[in-house]
Amino acid sequence: MPPSPPCAQGAQPRRSCLLSPATVCPVTSPVGASQSAETDLLALTAELVDRPSVSFEEGPFVDWLEAELRRLPHLTVTRIGDNLVARTDLGRSQRLVLAGHTDTVPVSGNGEARIDGDVLWGLGSADMKGGLAVFLDLARTVPEPEHDLTFVFYAREEVAHEHSGLAEILAVQPELLAGDCALLGEPTSAAIEAGCQGALRFEVVLTGARAHTARPWMGRNAVHRLAPVLAELAGYRARRPVIDGCEYREALQAVSVEGGVAGNVVPDSVTLRIHHRYAPDRTAAEAEAFVRGLLAPHIEHDDRIDIVDSSSACAPSLTHPLLRRLVDDNGLEVRAKLGWTDVARFDELGIPATNFGPGDATVAHTPGERLERASVERHARALRALLTEPGPVEAS
Ligand SMILES: [Zn+2]
Repeated sequence: MPPSPPCAQGAQPRRSCLLSPATVCPVTSPVGASQSAETDLLALTAELVDRPSVSFEEGPFVDWLEAELRRLPHLTVTRIGDNLVARTDLGRSQRLVLAGHTDTVPVSGNGEARIDGDVLWGLGSADMKGGLAVFLDLARTVPEPEHDLTFVFYAREEVAHEHSGLAEILAVQPELLAGDCALLGEPTSAAIEAGCQGALRFEVVLTGARAHTARPWMGRNAVHRLAPVLAELAGYRARRPVIDGCEYREALQAVSVEGGVAGNVVPDSVTLRIHHRYAPDRTAAEAEAFVRGLLAPHIEHDDRIDIVDSSSACAPSLTHPLLRRLVDDNGLEVRAKLGWTDVARFDELGIPATNFGPGDATVAHTPGERLERASVERHARALRALLTEPGPVEAS
């Protein structure tokens, strides 16, 4: 269980922060002051948390963000639906894409931001308005970055893939997403979570023959046929391939079962749903073949295995010089991303991408969602150094 937010008593009143780029934010923090002009990133994240943006209702948040970005003369801003792309065009040899989703899951009694010491509590603080705050602050305060920048703020990540705002941009103006590498600001506690695992959802339908339960030998029980299939899944030993130093631990789980006709009928059909997470050393086709092969001994002529959803994996991309430098210069911890994220969409475009954001993913989507100052400042400091300090990176 996530810890509960602290009670309001004792919490500091949140300090206000004017967000106009023409106005230096009056809120400073002892650590933040050294890394990002004078912006208090926890306070800025709180401002974003207080602007609600539950999936499909991001419009007003995006209106505000668009106005903020359009104030910045060094950025060219394009809006597609409720998605924003803001680009520099400085003729640099490399272009870095900084991308993040604007939406949150529904409110769970935590819609209002509250800062208590160096912790910000509130919906979206970790997933992922802390990352958005860092991007926005960089957009405002680094007008001449060492590498061209593309900021991508997209809608509807927290819902089914078919609604993805990133997919909407890809369908309309994919060239806007072009870049040499990409960082997704999903919460990783300011570590690098490289690539992502692919995901496949299967429906397995086993057939039988109906009969009266008083005379079951006249039929064939489809539910009973699940037994060896479930044993196969329960006995599955996960592959743990190591790719570029990152260990990806695969998973294969039965997630639901549906079947039965009536209390006195031998069932003639059962549907088992399976979710498979696979490492990026396999393609979706290879992962599918693996599952089909595993279940093959239990599948008969009238049975079916259907794929109902497929999300491709993304290989770690830490050999890219910009990403390598980000890791090396900041001594960042590197680990594999075991879930799926939108880095896979960039990978499909041929853009190396990885996850790097402030906040702890394990508190995301919980009533106790929060963001710690040290996390957001560590993330911001690393990105700011990459954008402002000349490095040995050459065009790839
Ligand atoms: Zn997220």
